[in-house]
Amino acid sequence: MTDFSTEFRMPKGCPSCGSHLMRVSKARDPDDKVFCASCNSYVCLYREAEDRLDNDHKSQAEDMIEKVTNKDERELPPKRS
Ligand SMILES: [Zn+2]
Repeated sequence: MTDFSTEFRMPKGCPSCGSHLMRVSKARDPDDKVFCASCNSYVCLYREAEDRLDNDHKSQAEDMIEKVTNKDERELPPKRS
């Protein structure tokens, strides 16, 4: 079976065992299922895995944008000086 699949690392671990090593078919089609490499649980579709990879790269910048935006909308207590 390993001939038809390839392993890759996901930032988010397997929901069952927490392993970050995932397995997907060598074709890496968006609709291919991603399985945990250590416990064989179905984790998500490869398309979703790719989304998660993207989100993880973006998350820090987006987090900062979110904080800035929220600051504008909320009245913050005065800063201690
Ligand atoms: Zn697992």
